[in-house]
Amino acid sequence: MGSNPHPKPHFLLFPFMAHGHMIPTLDMAKLFATKGAKSTILTTPLNSKILQKPIDTFNKLNPTLEIDIKIFDFPCVQLGLPEGCENVDFFTSNNNDDGGYMIFKFLTATRFFKDQLEKLLEATRPDCLIADMFFPWATEAAEKFYVPRLVFHGTGYFSLCAGHCIRMHNPQNRVASSCEPFVIPDLPGDIILTKEQIVDGDNESDMGKFMNEVRKSEVESSGVIVNSFHELEPAYADFYKKFVAKKAWHIGPLSVVNRGLQEKAERGKKASIDEVECLKWLDSKKPGSVIYISFGSVASFKNEQLIEIAAGLEASGTNFIWVVRKNKGDKEEWLPEGMEERTKGKGIIIRGWAPQVLILDHQATGGFVTHCGWNSLLEGVAAGLPMVTWPVGAEQFYNEKLVTQVLKTGVSVGATKHVRFKGDFISREKVEKAVREVLVGEEAGERRRRAKTLAEMAKAAVKEGGSSFNDLNSFIEEFSS
Ligand code: UDP
Repeated sequence: MGSNPHPKPHFLLFPFMAHGHMIPTLDMAKLFATKGAKSTILTTPLNSKILQKPIDTFNKLNPTLEIDIKIFDFPCVQLGLPEGCENVDFFTSNNNDDGGYMIFKFLTATRFFKDQLEKLLEATRPDCLIADMFFPWATEAAEKFYVPRLVFHGTGYFSLCAGHCIRMHNPQNRVASSCEPFVIPDLPGDIILTKEQIVDGDNESDMGKFMNEVRKSEVESSGVIVNSFHELEPAYADFYKKFVAKKAWHIGPLSVVNRGLQEKAERGKKASIDEVECLKWLDSKKPGSVIYISFGSVASFKNEQLIEIAAGLEASGTNFIWVVRKNKGDKEEWLPEGMEERTKGKGIIIRGWAPQVLILDHQATGGFVTHCGWNSLLEGVAAGLPMVTWPVGAEQFYNEKLVTQVLKTGVSVGATKHVRFKGDFISREKVEKAVREVLVGEEAGERRRRAKTLAEMAKAAVKEGGSSFNDLNSFIEEFSS
C-alpha cells in the first residue's frame, strides 16, 4: 500500500465514460465522502462538465466533505474518434447500426489514459484506485506504484455469476439452436437462458479478446466493488464471493445516497423536463397509477419500435411517463399522429433525459418498463416497483432473469434476443399486455407486495448494521492506510 500524505484516506475513482458508469461512480464518491474519505473522480473535459454541477451541489450541501475532479486529456481526433466523442452517448444517440464498431474503437481508445494515470498515481499515491472494468490496463498501472486497484463493473452479483458459469461451461455450445433454452450450469436457481441472450459469446472476436483482458486484470486486482445488497441476491452474493472473485464488497443500492430533490434531479444529464412540473403532474395522479418507461442512456430504438410502444401504451389506457432518447426538433416520424393530444393529461413524453429517480420514487408511479440496465433495475427495486422487463443488450438478459425468475417482481415483455443498442422487435400487443399485467390483477398485487418488501430490505441494507453498511465500513477500513 502506498504511503499516504493525506490526513483522510484518498480514493481515486475512474469511471468508463457512459452515464450508466459515471452516475453510480459519483454516488460511490458521495458515499465514501460521507465516511470521511476524500474522493477524486477522473474523467475527460466534456464529461467533467456533466459531473461538475452535482459535485458542486454535494460539496455545498456538505461543506466538511470533499469530492474533486481531475481531468485527463482525451484527444478524440488523434485517437481516430469523431471530435467530441468522449461519451458512449455520443455515438449511440443516432439510429446507425455500426455492428459494434464504434463501441470497440471507443473502448480501445481509452488506453490513452494509461500514462496520465501513472503520472497521477505517482504524484498523489492514493489509498486505492477504483477503476472501471473496461480499463483493464489500470491494474498494471496501479501495481507499478503499489496502489491497490479495485474493479467496478456497474452490475450486480447475479449477472456476474451467470457470466462466470457460462464462461466455465459453455452450455450454449451444446444446444441445437440459438433459441433452445438451457439451464445455466452450477448457477443456483436453475436459471433458464438461450444462446441468443448471451453477451459476446465469441472468445475469438475482437470484443471477446478484449473481455478476456478485462477478466485477467480483474483476477490480478485487489477485488471488486459491487453496487448491490446481500438481501437482494443472497445466493449469488455468496456464490460470487466464494467461487468467482478474490474479494468483493457490496455497498448498494448506491442511488439512495441522493436524498433531496436537487441531488436526485441532477443525476446524469440535465433533465429535458422541468422537475417541479413533472412532480406536480405526478401529484395529480392516484398512487400506483402511472407506468414509467425508459430504456436507459444507451439503447436507441428504431422508429418502427417506437411506434409500437406508442400504440401499445395508448391502447393500455394507463397513465404514463415515457422517455424517448430523441431531441426536440428531431423529425418525429415515430410518434403516431395526434397521440399527444389524445393522451393529454394521461401521459407525458420526455424527449431526451428524465429525472428518473425522482419519478420512480414518487408514489403515483406504479410500475417500470425497463431495459434492465443494472442501475435502472436497482433504482426500481429501491423504489419498490414491479417491472416490465425488456432487455436490449449487454448483460440485461441476465438481469431480467433475476427479476422474473428469482425475485418474481416482473413480467417479461417477451424480448428473445440480444441486439446491441436496438433491441429485439416487440409488437404493440405485447407492450399493451405486459403493461396491463404489471399494473392490474391479483398477480400484480403479489408482485407489488414482493417489490415493496425488497425496497424495505434495500433501506435496511444501507442503515447501521445492514449488509451494505457493514461492507462499506470494512472496505474503508481495509484501504485506509
Ligand atoms: N437515467 C436517467 N434519465 C434518463 C435515462 C437514464 O436518469 O432519461 C439514468 C438512470 O437513472 C440510471 C442510468 O441513467 O442511473 C442508466 O443506467 P442503466 O444501468 O440503467 O442503463 P444504461 O444506460 O447503462 O444502459
